[in-house]
Amino acid sequence: MTDTSIHYRIRPANPAAHRFEVSCTVMKPDPAGQRFALPAWIPGSYLIREFARNVLSIRAEAGRKPVRLEKVDKHTWQASALKTDLPLTVTCEIYAWDLSVRGAHLDATHAFFNGTSVFLRAIGQESSPCLVDIQPPDGKTFKNWRVATALEPASGEIGSAKRHGFGLYRAESYDALIDHPVEMGTFSLATFEACGVPHDVAITGRHDCDMKRLTADLKRVCEWQIRFFGEPAPMRRYVFLVTAVGDGYGGLEHRASTALLCSRNDLPYRGMKGLPESYRSFLGLCSHEYFHTWNVKRIKPAAFVPYNLDRENYTTQLWAFEGITSYYDDLALLRSGVIELKDWLELTAKTITNVHRSPGRLRQSLAESSFDAWSKFYRPDENTPNAVVSYYAKGALAALALDLTLRKESRNKISLDDVMRVLWARFGQTGNGVGDDDIRLIAEELSGLNLGRFFANTIHGTRDLPLKRLLSPFGVRLEWERAKTASLGIKTGTEGNELKLATVYDDGPAQQAGLAAGDVLVALNGLRVTPAAFDKHLARLNPDDTVELHAFRRDELMQFSVRLAPPPADTARLLADTATSILRKGWLGH
Ligand SMILES: [Zn+2]
Repeated sequence: MTDTSIHYRIRPANPAAHRFEVSCTVMKPDPAGQRFALPAWIPGSYLIREFARNVLSIRAEAGRKPVRLEKVDKHTWQASALKTDLPLTVTCEIYAWDLSVRGAHLDATHAFFNGTSVFLRAIGQESSPCLVDIQPPDGKTFKNWRVATALEPASGEIGSAKRHGFGLYRAESYDALIDHPVEMGTFSLATFEACGVPHDVAITGRHDCDMKRLTADLKRVCEWQIRFFGEPAPMRRYVFLVTAVGDGYGGLEHRASTALLCSRNDLPYRGMKGLPESYRSFLGLCSHEYFHTWNVKRIKPAAFVPYNLDRENYTTQLWAFEGITSYYDDLALLRSGVIELKDWLELTAKTITNVHRSPGRLRQSLAESSFDAWSKFYRPDENTPNAVVSYYAKGALAALALDLTLRKESRNKISLDDVMRVLWARFGQTGNGVGDDDIRLIAEELSGLNLGRFFANTIHGTRDLPLKRLLSPFGVRLEWERAKTASLGIKTGTEGNELKLATVYDDGPAQQAGLAAGDVLVALNGLRVTPAAFDKHLARLNPDDTVELHAFRRDELMQFSVRLAPPPADTARLLADTATSILRKGWLGH
């Protein structure tokens, strides 16, 4: 242990009670009184989560004598000034019962944690190297547990972990420490190499995954992405940490790993034929998080350099870091040969449909959606479809529009691929943050185009993107398909045998008649409404019919006359011309 390093120790002290014991030892504490804090949020997930709320107890000591700790705010503690120059150790018990990619989870089957949930930051010493002693739970039951993480074993130190073992690991700074989540347990493990870089896939939870198929597909996608940005890859190794559950979906990116949550049915099984939609979407998730290894973990918006872990970090650029990543996640599957053109057209049409069905797109720009992610996109409610545009979905379409514009105007000489590689060279490899205008400036510099209006409309405006016109020179037709039934302008959800209005769309028939989100529909034209029967009722009605709806608002029965609207043409289809255009070949391949 070097004199300046911060030494952490984490132990699953009581798996049944979901309690970790975590200590942090500072060799040279601040003489005025060392302060410690837990982050308020985890980078990549833009919501204040106040991880310190799971601290059950905390104490400090130096030379075996207790030191007073004063809580300064919701996530900061200050130790009394020490009269000695002894190391200061703070130990806490942390409750971990959040099976998501963003938190910490512990029971007798496995443990998963992000450093943001468990490791205190010694304020003022963030750049010190860290050593972490990862310990197994006590008891024979746990003797087969091992460790999956992209943290490097602290080789050369006494007690260094072996790969996948317990013991000492190291991180170059606090920022690195909290960017390497850790899985412990009896996970399945497979490894592969992509462009010479070792990759681990660790799957926890009950599953019957065909690891061979999975690693073969991932290898193609990873190699395509490494070559896209250029070898060598920026990480020495990479780990996919997968938790398989009955029903779940999510991912969080890190500099040399990703934490993924999926349904066990999304994983490939032995003997599986073709590419089912569920597995295709899991591969899309893996591809998405992997692309972040470059775009957001290294090419970062200026507001994230460095992260402020105490509060919201505002940026208008999440459309670029999530949207461009969403554009390339499926494109990487296509270009690496994992999916076919028809799959890609289907996936992209789905994104177009999703954006088109949210009235919020006419109200909020991509820049605004990015900036307000903390209070709007990440905190959805019944009115979100009316108020918010997704910087993922519309951001992906903005990336598509930019790519098509650059390719068409330059006859495929310049594309978004080139912009990404310049971003990588100028920002990703230097550590400088990307400013608000940098992407536009790079695209203009490479193409010689003036893109002021494009960015004003696409990123800062709310008009629909002219995708039909942009796709046409590439031999791809965008068509709108009409729904089969007349519209009430609602989105419903079911609770038991009740049909509840989840969202009432702005200016739609239901809203005009006075229905509101949360209303429980009980009868349509005097007939009882059940979740199973509602669509059948509706299918027999014509546009311009007026229907009588009975609904409970709280416990009050209310009656509404609703005049149905014509079926909306709101389902996008993308069709590729049979004759391959040269432009399309340069863009999507064959
Ligand atoms: Zn993402």
